Amino acid sequence: MTSPAPSPSPGRTLPETARTRHRRLREQGSLDRGALDAVLAAGFLCHLGVVVDGTPMVVPTVYGADGDTLYFHGSVASRSLIASPGAGVCVTVTHVDGLVLARSVFEHGVNYRSAMVHGTPRPVTDPEEKLAGLRCLTEQAAPGQWDYARRPSRKELAATSLLALSLDEASVKIRTGPPDDGDGPDAALGLWAGVLPLHTTWGALEPDPALPADLAPPAHLTARAASPA
Ligand SMILES: Cc1cc2nc3c(=O)[nH]c(=O)nc-3n(C[C@H](O)[C@H](O)[C@H](O)COP(=O)(O)OP(=O)(O)OC[C@H]3O[C@@H](n4cnc5c(N)ncnc54)[C@H](O)[C@@H]3O)c2cc1C
Repeated sequence: MTSPAPSPSPGRTLPETARTRHRRLREQGSLDRGALDAVLAAGFLCHLGVVVDGTPMVVPTVYGADGDTLYFHGSVASRSLIASPGAGVCVTVTHVDGLVLARSVFEHGVNYRSAMVHGTPRPVTDPEEKLAGLRCLTEQAAPGQWDYARRPSRKELAATSLLALSLDEASVKIRTGPPDDGDGPDAALGLWAGVLPLHTTWGALEPDPALPADLAPPAHLTARAASPA
């Protein structure tokens, strides 16, 4: 994901808690709430870490970010979603921007933007908030699809869990730039060093073979296909 949206919360600072205080690689941490919003806006896939029946599970899942809330959804039978409201969770969002190739293997690294959110999610039961949260999720991954595709039926809504997690306790970390060993003794080794950038793009649309041949894709999808993710 390479095109962060403009921050909806300029000038806000992330509160530092015992959990969010950066300890290692502190210089990559940021207290800028706008940086957090940009990392969240640039993606739609997170990893939800939760202890289920005494065992840690880290579950990849889609999310929607709306102001101070992160929404996740899944089947009402999803074990990680059932366990989450009673337990603390840790959610991460990660974007890899490049490989940092140093003179020494020790100094190799990754250019990245990442966010971590700690908290206890609440199940969303209010029908209006549930629809709004599902819309947020859908639009974050596939902008334009909420208005284009059929909306969830009552039965489908009943089969779907939606959880809301506050962004009150969140951190963001960003690494940019070249390797760190350009001014150390290894600079004299005569080895190439630098960054191999990673860019993500959407491909061309692949129509469902079951479609009638004359059914054209909607404009919001043709505009997005083969563009930077
Ligand atoms: C793609 C990628 C690859 C990485 N590879 C490595 C690696 O190989 N080795 C390595 O040591 N580190 C790596 N990191 C950094 C790693 O994520 C941690 O930030 C770092 O290791 C410090 O971890 P810690 O357990 O000491 O956390 P601490 O510094 O103790 O964490 C304290 C608090 O800081 C915040 N925090 C920590 N890490 C992050 C983060 N990445 N994003 C947002 N908030 C954070 C959290 O709120 C956390 O509770 C990588 C990060 C990314 C995104």
